[in-house]
Amino acid sequence: MEWEDDLARLKGVGPKKTTALARLGLGTLYDLLTYYPRTYIDQTALTPLGRLRAGDEATVSGLLMNLKERRAQSGVHVLTAIISDGSGYLSLTWFNQSFLKKKLLPGRRILATGKANYAYGGYGGLAMTNLAALEILDPAAEPEPHGMLPVYPATETLTQNFFRQAVRQLLTECPAIPEVLPDSVRRRYGLPDRADAFRQVHFPDNPAGLETARTRLAFEELYLIQCGLLLMKRKSQRQDRAIRHLMNSQLVERVYASLPFSLTEEQERTWREIAADMEKPETMRRLVQGDVGSGKTVIALLALVKTVENGYQGALMAPTEILARQHYDTFTEMLSGTDIRLGLLSGRLGAKQHREMLEQIAAHEVDIVIGTHALIQDKVRYDNLGLVVTDEQHRFGIAQRAELTKKGARTPDVLVMTATPIPRTMTLTVYGDLDVSRIENLPPGRRPVRTFARQASRRPLIYQFVKKEILAGRQAYVVCPLIEEGEETTLPSAERVYEELTGGLFKGIPCGLVHGRLKPKEKEAVMQSFYQGETKLLVATTVIEVGVNVPNATVMVVENADRFGLAQLHQLRGRIGRGPFPSYCILIAGGNSTTAWERLATLERTASGFDLAEEDLRLRGPGQFFGSMQHGLGDLKIANVLRDTDILLKARQAAAETMTREEDLAYVRQVLMLQYKRRFANVARV
Ligand code: ADP
Ligand code: MG
Repeated sequence: MEWEDDLARLKGVGPKKTTALARLGLGTLYDLLTYYPRTYIDQTALTPLGRLRAGDEATVSGLLMNLKERRAQSGVHVLTAIISDGSGYLSLTWFNQSFLKKKLLPGRRILATGKANYAYGGYGGLAMTNLAALEILDPAAEPEPHGMLPVYPATETLTQNFFRQAVRQLLTECPAIPEVLPDSVRRRYGLPDRADAFRQVHFPDNPAGLETARTRLAFEELYLIQCGLLLMKRKSQRQDRAIRHLMNSQLVERVYASLPFSLTEEQERTWREIAADMEKPETMRRLVQGDVGSGKTVIALLALVKTVENGYQGALMAPTEILARQHYDTFTEMLSGTDIRLGLLSGRLGAKQHREMLEQIAAHEVDIVIGTHALIQDKVRYDNLGLVVTDEQHRFGIAQRAELTKKGARTPDVLVMTATPIPRTMTLTVYGDLDVSRIENLPPGRRPVRTFARQASRRPLIYQFVKKEILAGRQAYVVCPLIEEGEETTLPSAERVYEELTGGLFKGIPCGLVHGRLKPKEKEAVMQSFYQGETKLLVATTVIEVGVNVPNATVMVVENADRFGLAQLHQLRGRIGRGPFPSYCILIAGGNSTTAWERLATLERTASGFDLAEEDLRLRGPGQFFGSMQHGLGDLKIANVLRDTDILLKARQAAAETMTREEDLAYVRQVLMLQYKRRFANVARV
């Protein structure tokens, strides 16, 4: 068997399982090898029930004494089992999991990991609900050969036992697990053998063995990413292909002087850093991180004018059509006193106009081209591209960045702008190939959005307030969480909210609805109508998240706000407060859990996106935060950017050392080429 073979090669994996595995993104044997356990049941440290205390997180073992089933008044189905190990008793409770009834037979041995709480009236006074892990074993069964039992992210068709058996088979029958770290790196950083690490991470002997293995695999993951990024940076900075801009001169000075405001200190510093980069004989690769509304557009404008002044073309890439159009409008206005020729390359152009625009770009009859990622498609030929700016960069992966730099005989400077406030540790991992400028404060005159967290019972009052604002001439957003298909929930979807509002309080007021299932053209028509002020109320899923600028919009209501991440809510509220009017963001809590309130309250009192991002990471964990960023490297599977800062710094250092050692570098290139064949295709071809 080979690591690239289909999982169907394993015993017990038929077509049905193959489909279920594919849904989890698991196709090859290697995919399964790197499908890491979610947690472990540590059988080496069982807590005797007699010693268990309320508040303890523990793994316990006991025989099932009896099982009770009832229906609570709310209709919830409740199963309660009592287990005993001779030293004490514990009750375990499950809600709406009646299927467990068949399995929870008296006399079975139960292994459970969870948090013990007081249960008044319960047996022995303690109970666990929401178990982190549960094992129902035959009491006569052989004890597990391993000290720690892995618990995988399982599904209905793919059970724990399936994963354990499949992985065990994998580890015994599969070809050798090849090393991916150069010997010198392994020795220098004292890292264990890779095959051992995989064995230990799936079936650890004890917690220490697990930690060593996890550290090794996290190191490897971060090290290889860093090497990939450094190789890419090195490639793009090769001096013979770089463009060197001259000092700012008349055109830049004139545009600068004509700006309708003076730059803030942070904008000024960022602009100086960019200009200096552009004047260097190496290619610029800079990331500007600035909160929503911090004024990044004007920085992009100045940089693009600078490249035009040097005789080059510039490109500004926006994530959506509507944003591209907005930038085009802004630029047209701000550059009206110059001869700079602007072009909008839109997917909405007719075939003829589109072809003409392409011709004009190729003939350098356009100086600055604005558009979506259509700008980097193969058909687009530039005469001489000097600078590429990508706005709201988190929608563009590293692959696209690399694509752009291949557009001409020479490598254009690259400036990426993002409003996603990425914590420092993450910047190092994901954007390790970029230099970073930060703008942390809003320009003067921008009124902070007043934010309120409210219970759902206040909805009627809230919408009356929205109506009042609309009647006073303003516009409003209502944002609803995305409901995934098949998800059972009582949450109102965007459609339902739209029906409710337009059929009731907002009858006669022009309202619009956008959600992910609309065709791009339809979506855009609705957005355009809101942008032009015809539509007064826009009900939307998060499609409005990025960059839309409607200064007349002053109210945003977020339904079931606790469904969103903090950073995302912050992005959303950045859509309002863009004009001279006071603005209000009202977050309606869907549930009433304390954590939900804690999070929404954070938004009430915190205006800085950077503070919120750190908070969000802390509250939600990096998995989701990262997952939503599409950074183009695939998710980190084992490294945890919050916890593993030490490993990250070591991996960076190791990667930097590798760049200076030819032998190691050749080895790592080989590894990257094999292992990240698709993701790092551009690097491998260096
Ligand atoms: P973002 O960083 O979210 O892209 P924009 O560039 O759209 O922010 O700027 C938000 C608003 O602030 C715009 O209306 C812009 O004209 C204005 N603005 C930018 N810089 C300044 C400044 N230094 N002083 C006053 N207003 C500014
Ligand atoms: Mg912007």
